[in-house]
Amino acid sequence: MAIHTENIIVEKTKASRINSVDFSNLNFGSVFSDHMFVCDYEDGKWQTPKIVPYQPITLEPSAKIFHYGQSIFEGMKAYKDEEGSVFLFRPMDNIKRMNISAKRLAMPEIPEAYFMDGLKELLKVEKDWIPSAKGSALYIRPFMFATGKGFHASPADSYKFIIACAPSGAYFSGKVKVLIEEHYSRSANGGVGFAKAGGNYAGQFYPTQLAKDKGYQQVIWTDDNTHEYIEEAGAMNIFVRINDTLLTVPTSDRILDGITRKSILAIAEAEGITTEVRKIKVSELIEASENGSLKELFGAGTAAVISPISGFGYKNKDYELPELENTYGELLKKRITDIQTNQTDDAFGWRV
Ligand code: PMP
Repeated sequence: MAIHTENIIVEKTKASRINSVDFSNLNFGSVFSDHMFVCDYEDGKWQTPKIVPYQPITLEPSAKIFHYGQSIFEGMKAYKDEEGSVFLFRPMDNIKRMNISAKRLAMPEIPEAYFMDGLKELLKVEKDWIPSAKGSALYIRPFMFATGKGFHASPADSYKFIIACAPSGAYFSGKVKVLIEEHYSRSANGGVGFAKAGGNYAGQFYPTQLAKDKGYQQVIWTDDNTHEYIEEAGAMNIFVRINDTLLTVPTSDRILDGITRKSILAIAEAEGITTEVRKIKVSELIEASENGSLKELFGAGTAAVISPISGFGYKNKDYELPELENTYGELLKKRITDIQTNQTDDAFGWRV
């Protein structure tokens, strides 16, 4: 079903909030731009899309989102260069992943052209909200949830798709200390770990809180079956550097196919860094830490790009990572953000 931008109804706000926002001091994902893209799925089809002022939504108490958790989302960014041109980074990959999530949660897929047209039109309306300072971007949150009503556990017959935006400053998380999880799991074989389903994140909060209570900032998820293999770092993919080799684990039913992850692998290979995609045992990490070959550990995802890890805890023992100069993490973060923000050639053809 082709829906073109001329069909989108645009209702602009009469009172922009932009002048009340301190763009030099933005926390991640806490200030929202003036408008959002909204489209409803009813009677078996997507209805006329709209761009409207950012505002609350009214739902029935029996809306299935509240009871059965049909809710999925994506996370992407729009970047502005010094000339004011606006870029997205591999947006079709987010759109495809949103539909992979939709299928798994028995929700309607969003036609790709329709999603892209809506996003581009929204960014035209919100162009002044896209920060251009180094490291900053407009974080874009597309999401869909079940609006259809009923206290019966079956897929809803109506849904709402929204794209909302939050201008975000440079995300300096600092180094984090992580706990390797021995009991809880974020996903399981045959489950929904590969989808960006809201419930996946709700399920992570409690174990993460327990880790925080012990003095760690994040959890390294391990496989649900044996807890012997590392899988993800909080809500990021995980990378390990052993000697000069950069490793990450293969994606699966349980692991999100991160866009940052696959971009980092491609950039590392182009930089001449040896990469390996294979399963990594916790015992291998510990051995590498003890013999000094473990050089770096970091998470990779859209929000922080790369989040360096200073050390990890496992079975009541702490292991520290060395303080290195010229890390792979810093190099790869620079290379990927230079591509995203149009500071360098786009050799991979990722900018849109
Ligand atoms: N894993 C999980 C569980 C995530 O939520 C995210 C963030 N979307 C990632 C990995 C990183 O994915 P991406 O690089 O596409 O942001």
